[in-house]
Amino acid sequence: MFRFLVIPLIICLVSCNNQNATTNKVENKNEKIVIAHRGASGYLPEHTMEAKAMAYAMDVDFIEQDLVLSNDNVPIVIHDIHLETVTDVAIKFPERKRTDGKYYVIDFTFDELKQLNVTERFDVTTNKAVYPNRFPINKSSFKLHSLQEEIELIQGLNKSTGKNIGIYPELKDPAFHLEEGKDISVIVLNILNEYGYTTKKDNCILQCFDANELKRIRKNLKSELFLVQLIEFKEDEQKLEEFSKYADGIGPWYKQIITGKDNDGNWQISNLVSEAHKFNLKVHAYTFRADQLDDFKTFDELLNVALYQANIDGVFTDFPDKVVSFVKKTN
Ligand code: CA
Repeated sequence: MFRFLVIPLIICLVSCNNQNATTNKVENKNEKIVIAHRGASGYLPEHTMEAKAMAYAMDVDFIEQDLVLSNDNVPIVIHDIHLETVTDVAIKFPERKRTDGKYYVIDFTFDELKQLNVTERFDVTTNKAVYPNRFPINKSSFKLHSLQEEIELIQGLNKSTGKNIGIYPELKDPAFHLEEGKDISVIVLNILNEYGYTTKKDNCILQCFDANELKRIRKNLKSELFLVQLIEFKEDEQKLEEFSKYADGIGPWYKQIITGKDNDGNWQISNLVSEAHKFNLKVHAYTFRADQLDDFKTFDELLNVALYQANIDGVFTDFPDKVVSFVKKTN
């Protein structure tokens, strides 16, 4: 009789625990995680729902959302605080640019933003695609969307597929938002809370370049989420101890880790990853692009040096399928 009670209980414990599987993977020393940078942005226009669904189907661990507020305080999933490099705003609302010639997300309501067509990123001066071998510019039909809509897509897919893929939101330029009278951190934390993302076990990693703001999120706003301090400058590399007081990881540019080649042709690795690990900080480096290899001969060579010679813990990539398959065959 006892057995009939215990076995279903064990099954329930194992499956209920599945909710935490990816976060455990994040905290596990040897596991490498794959983050879809702006979705599967190497194949479809960045930050569109289509790019997110494609990334989801590639079995990544996390899908990234860059966040900028609309005029009516809706967090929009978009990389820049401006609209003109990924939408047709200059055609639809030509009179709405500011004196600097730019169109700001924050000047438009969510309803107005929904009217824009999204395209592959282009250079506004030449009208040419930034990545010429990617999805063609101004083709098909793509739209902007809110953080809530994307969470519902990912949580919906988690339900229908039985997988447990996480979200990796980034607060873009909190200081700019504050100048505009908006507190993006409070608005986003409330939404994350509403959708069940409150602790490190909830499959959400929150990232920001602004160190004061990330510290405020931990200390003043009392968030218990997994926090990643994004960095881009050499001087940030001296602040690891300070970062470790409020963050769980750092997100450096990969060239802060792989710094060049020595005279014998060996890749030179900085001590940033080993130092970060001493402070118990995970290292999720950006951005790995198969169509921007710099001095690497192949994408696999770049991944191999970053993941196994430099020992980073996670990869932001525009080509999630390639990194997932590389990690599967090597980890
Ligand atoms: Ca980002």
